[in-house]
Amino acid sequence: MSFIERTIRTVLLVELMQGMWLTFRYMFRPKVTLNYPYEKGYLSPRFRAEHALRRYEGGEERCISCKLCEAICPAQAITIEGMAREDGSRRTLRYDIDMTKCIYCGYCEEACPVDAIVEGPNFEFATESREELMYDKMKLLDNGSRWEVELALRLNQDKKYR
Ligand code: SF4
Ligand code: SF4
Repeated sequence: MSFIERTIRTVLLVELMQGMWLTFRYMFRPKVTLNYPYEKGYLSPRFRAEHALRRYEGGEERCISCKLCEAICPAQAITIEGMAREDGSRRTLRYDIDMTKCIYCGYCEEACPVDAIVEGPNFEFATESREELMYDKMKLLDNGSRWEVELALRLNQDKKYR
């Protein structure tokens, strides 16, 4: 481009006009961005995120401390200590998940015979410290209570396709 052409384009603000024309054209097209966190995108029913421990309807913990989830976890993120109750049933004393190790493979959920440990749809659990991602039994049971409706629905859907 010659010096004269460049000068004419500069004086007439050609690049600026081209940019504004492009902006104007895109004003009438569907938006491709979301105003997160006020707007959220579609989540697949197969999406797996934060873990939860579920209870039965009566409030009893589902987990029977069989440790299958602990054994299958490829990241060795789960630590369980169990105990036998007076009636002979087994329950956990300790159920920890190190969420910084977890790779969200879903094997723990697959292994569980009583649908106790599950991965819920909540992906918004970022923390400010590593310690907050060391989940204990109470935290996991709280998650279970908070997400029970969504979890039960998803597990029922999964069973239909098995
Ligand atoms: S999702 Fe996978 S890595 Fe995470 S706790 Fe379960 S088995 Fe372990
Ligand atoms: S969560 Fe399920 S697989 Fe893991 S110890 Fe409890 S009952 Fe067994």
